Amino acid sequence: MKLQDKVALVTGGAKGIGRAICVALASEGASVAVNYRSSKAEALDLVHEIEAAGSKGIAIAGDVSNAAEAVSMVEQTVAELGGLHVLVNNAGIVKDTLIFNMQPDDWQSVMNVNFGGVFNGTKAALSQFMAQREGTIINISSVMGERGWIGQANYSASKGAINAFTRSAAVELARFGIRVNAVLPGFAPTDMVAELVDKGGRGIKKQIPLRDFARVEDVASLVVFLAGPDSTYMTGTCLPVDGGASAQLGLGRPE
Ligand code: NAD
Repeated sequence: MKLQDKVALVTGGAKGIGRAICVALASEGASVAVNYRSSKAEALDLVHEIEAAGSKGIAIAGDVSNAAEAVSMVEQTVAELGGLHVLVNNAGIVKDTLIFNMQPDDWQSVMNVNFGGVFNGTKAALSQFMAQREGTIINISSVMGERGWIGQANYSASKGAINAFTRSAAVELARFGIRVNAVLPGFAPTDMVAELVDKGGRGIKKQIPLRDFARVEDVASLVVFLAGPDSTYMTGTCLPVDGGASAQLGLGRPE
């Protein structure tokens, strides 16, 4: 098992992509702290599942957009699981709307949770990571951070900020043995994109070179790779898991 004796903290870990990441990290032997904001029952169910499969798990309440709560998540993880080696900044929200209609809160809350959460989590984990001269941070960004879409200017900007932050943090923290990478999923059916996938799923799928959405497990397996010993020379990367969507020009086929 590739993450034996390692401890991971996954923000927004109770549902969707975060849940799959927790399961995948635990299946490689990691002890996992599942952070949740409102999904307490789902987080506790997941902890039972992790423990039934033979790893350790705890559920930790906290809002990633609040710096003090991010510090407390890290402190609780270290106190209850005996350390911290892997931080997955996964928590995220959408408030899609046209820029013309976008209210200050639509903009601020998306930036505060998505990008603010990555900053707060990273900063909170640093003392532990620097003291042990080991740590890996994986930011769950999005292909939207490198491309644009109607109605997602706030989300896209928050993810673009994560990508830029990932590169700078990687360069700055490498001297402490800390690696920082980002994973950029395409569409993966979860609560976040349920409405979109229901409404326009077939149309979107047809435009993806691999003709399918990502499974949450596709994202999770890349996170395990970036967390573990097979990627020790990788830092500062922003890796898409998108079925080829961001590789194409997007103008359709020549007639
Ligand atoms: P989801 O809505 O199922 O899960 C998001 C999780 O984050 C939820 O558990 C939610 O409670 C939690 N969360 C939200 N705000 C929080 C806060 N302030 N503090 C702590 N937790 C908070 O969505 P998902 O699709 O699993 O999204 C996970 C990550 O993947 C997000 O960062 C999202 O932007 C990214 N992503 C998703 C897709 C997709 O198609 N599903 C594509 C690209 C990127």
